[in-house]
Amino acid sequence: MALLAARHGHTAELFERDSRAPGTALDRDFFGWRRPTVPQAVQPHALLGAARSVLRDELPDVYAEMLGLGARERHELDWFEERPPARPGDEDLVMLQARRILLESALTTALRAEAGVVVRYGEPVAGLTTVPGPAGNPGIQVTGVTTEAGNYEGDLVVDAGGRRGGVERRLAEAGCRPPVVERHRTGLAYFCRWYRLPEGMDEGPRRPWAVTGGAFAGCAVFPADNRVFAVTLFVHTSDTTRSALRDPAVFERAARAFPPGAAWLALGAEPLSDVRATASLDNRWSALVDEHGPVVTGLVPVGDSITHTNPTLGQGTSLALWAARRVARTAHRDPGSARFAVDHHDWAVRTLKPWFDFQVVADAAIGERFATRAGRTGTAREAAALFDCALEDPEVMRARARVRHLAEPPERAYADPEVKARVARWLAERPDYAPHDAGPDRTEWEELTAGAGRAAQPPEPAVPWVSEEPAVPVVPVVPVVPAAGPSTSARS
Ligand SMILES: Cc1cc2nc3c(=O)[nH]c(=O)nc-3n(C[C@H](O)[C@H](O)[C@H](O)COP(=O)(O)OP(=O)(O)OC[C@H]3O[C@@H](n4cnc5c(N)ncnc54)[C@H](O)[C@@H]3O)c2cc1C
Repeated sequence: MALLAARHGHTAELFERDSRAPGTALDRDFFGWRRPTVPQAVQPHALLGAARSVLRDELPDVYAEMLGLGARERHELDWFEERPPARPGDEDLVMLQARRILLESALTTALRAEAGVVVRYGEPVAGLTTVPGPAGNPGIQVTGVTTEAGNYEGDLVVDAGGRRGGVERRLAEAGCRPPVVERHRTGLAYFCRWYRLPEGMDEGPRRPWAVTGGAFAGCAVFPADNRVFAVTLFVHTSDTTRSALRDPAVFERAARAFPPGAAWLALGAEPLSDVRATASLDNRWSALVDEHGPVVTGLVPVGDSITHTNPTLGQGTSLALWAARRVARTAHRDPGSARFAVDHHDWAVRTLKPWFDFQVVADAAIGERFATRAGRTGTAREAAALFDCALEDPEVMRARARVRHLAEPPERAYADPEVKARVARWLAERPDYAPHDAGPDRTEWEELTAGAGRAAQPPEPAVPWVSEEPAVPVVPVVPVVPAAGPSTSARS
């Protein structure tokens, strides 16, 4: 946020709770840095085309630095032996594959060189400074932030504190009406382990498809930078076999039972970590405008602070970058006003909320399938066919990729007459087609996950490991970027 603000002509002061910044010793920082305020940092982060486009267009130095550090680009249409003839927009259907630390490291390098930004590490925001809201608005106006070191005033406070930032508490302390929060539990638990491909093997297999869903569990492989990749298993939180998956030996046995896990783990990769678990994630939408108008002015949320989306679709960083870019582009327009707060909210509802809603529907379907063990056999034939057809038909794959990379909403991409006709033809040619589950059946799964125990573990990982994050934030407080006022050279 701070970097984008500075690139749009503002000055910014960034408060970061953690006392240190990521460096360029990627493995050390990724595997050895305990980060309770950002527990998801060690989980796989695939950057969708939407995130990549913001980086490429707005922060080309950051993007180039990521590539230089080892991030890889994978075009969705390279699933096929031969990439189909290009269509406008295809250039954005590219996944940026890297551990999250590469993005953080590249952003930090750029921030250090940015004259318009002051970064205060280890100085968490503890509160907000406020005055009564502007005339005609019953809310409170934020004028700055407080930390242990004192008060900092700014024209705009941007809450980029993430899902655990605790802005709601700060606003309540300041006397604001509560935000309007929509929250959906997902009921999914994720287990991931990191590996490195053998020396000289720069890529894993292009096939099978990297994400597979079974009747009650799924497996995904996340290729990243520098021969590193992650394997993730996901199950319902009520699944009794869940805790066994923390055992690396059990984890590997179970992962090998799915096509992508089997293909990648057959390559002789070296484990770099233990199994990292995360659960109880939700989809949360938090609006700072209610039926009376903005509950606060002078403060806007970006990133997980507005919408925290469960990672099954990997949207989080993209939505965060969209919001940050929007604030950077508009922050010169009377940022303390009620109009600014309402415009930001309206933009978020128009631009981010449809993807949040899409995520909620997708997670509800997966959660229901896993909880009831209905599997794909329980899903609509046409919906399943769309996915299976895409693996064979580049036009349908393109539509799917446009949805996956947030280029087009599903109701538009899949309503395209050509896409519909292709899926219908594909189905007509396969009258016996029925959605099928990948991976083990329940009896096999229970056998695979039985016998968890330390004795069965493979040798110690090659890279020092950090224990799993706590389930609750350590100290939930708000980080902000108060723009110290748009400069006269501000652009939008
Ligand atoms: C398991 C998991 C997997 C994910 N996978 C993906 C993926 O594949 N692709 C994707 O795009 N997204 C993914 N996400 C989502 C992504 O991590 C978030 O959407 C993204 O990090 C949001 O960025 P943010 O800046 O809003 O918050 P964060 O990245 O959480 O950053 C918040 C920052 O605020 C700091 N902070 C907190 N409180 C204070 C305070 N009081 N004062 C100062 N600083 C403070 C924290 O230390 C932290 O640095 C995943 C999330 C999870 C949980």
